[in-house]
Amino acid sequence: MDTPLLTPPPPPPAALGSDRQRPSLVNDARPKERHLRFWLVTVLIAIATAGSLVFVDRSPLGVIAFVFVLVVPFEKWFPRHHGQRIRRRALGTDLSYALASPVLQFVGLLVALPVALLSLAWLPGLALRPLVARIPAAAMPFVALVAFDFVIYWVHRWSHDIAFFWRFHSIHHSPETMDWVSGFRNHPVDGAILAPPFVFLLAAGFSPQVTGALAIIQVLLGLFLHANVRWRLRPLHRFVITPEFHHWHHANEPGAISTNHSVFLPVWDIAFGTYHMPTDRRPQRYGVDEEIPAGMAAQLMHPFRGIGNPLCHLRHPVRAVGSAARNVAALTTEIARSTGRRRPVRAI
Ligand SMILES: [Zn+2]
Repeated sequence: MDTPLLTPPPPPPAALGSDRQRPSLVNDARPKERHLRFWLVTVLIAIATAGSLVFVDRSPLGVIAFVFVLVVPFEKWFPRHHGQRIRRRALGTDLSYALASPVLQFVGLLVALPVALLSLAWLPGLALRPLVARIPAAAMPFVALVAFDFVIYWVHRWSHDIAFFWRFHSIHHSPETMDWVSGFRNHPVDGAILAPPFVFLLAAGFSPQVTGALAIIQVLLGLFLHANVRWRLRPLHRFVITPEFHHWHHANEPGAISTNHSVFLPVWDIAFGTYHMPTDRRPQRYGVDEEIPAGMAAQLMHPFRGIGNPLCHLRHPVRAVGSAARNVAALTTEIARSTGRRRPVRAI
């Protein structure tokens, strides 16, 4: 069955429509194909596990302890939601993501490399290289920060507005409780969408050290932004990201869907019409409307529902090329539509 990659799409966030019909599950593979797919998945998991042991030098238990010790005191002293318990529903799922993070990161890296290459994002990067070369060395980290934040803003916004990207990003938005560990819940393919911005910045001439440092800071800051902390930092909230800003990003409430995409500087949301920081209320309800299964394994498989059997493409390579071209065209149209979307800036 040669099912197009981008159709039928899963329901996009509420901002793009309230029709939330789920696509039917496709499970029409014959026993021989199912057998082959089982072994393919098994071999891939074995490669990912072995690769993560070799290439990812980090103890997940150490990271969990580090985040717990660093963030939980702030949740106790400055809680957004009073009475929220550390031991809450789906805590085990989010801890599973944290424990499996080396394997998931390695899988994400394997996906990111071809995505970076095929996205052609390095082409405009190379075109800008002579301009970037003129930037004084002292100003480089600041320019890199602004450039990094700008491109991540757009990629993050597209991952909300474009149905195919939302398949993977919705896993990160599925926790219904925001706390120190919920930020670990990420699909590895979702992270691969950051590959084009990175390759763009590297091709433009920003150093791997500065770009890498920004990525690490963004991940660590991201874990804090998910914490049950009420900080709004008024009036600085228009200039620097705060837990409340990011809690609104995760809020499943009218007006909040697909807003506050910035990861460092809210100025991009203000400039491009997606800023949402009401003065008269605080985020209360999180998660997504569509049904996301419980448990890490089921969630990792969930975005692939309805895509069909990729092995079929091997049997019909010519048809696969045509299908890929149609998908790229559909993706380009959706990116253009998302880029042109503008919602009124709420009270700031
Ligand atoms: Zn998001």
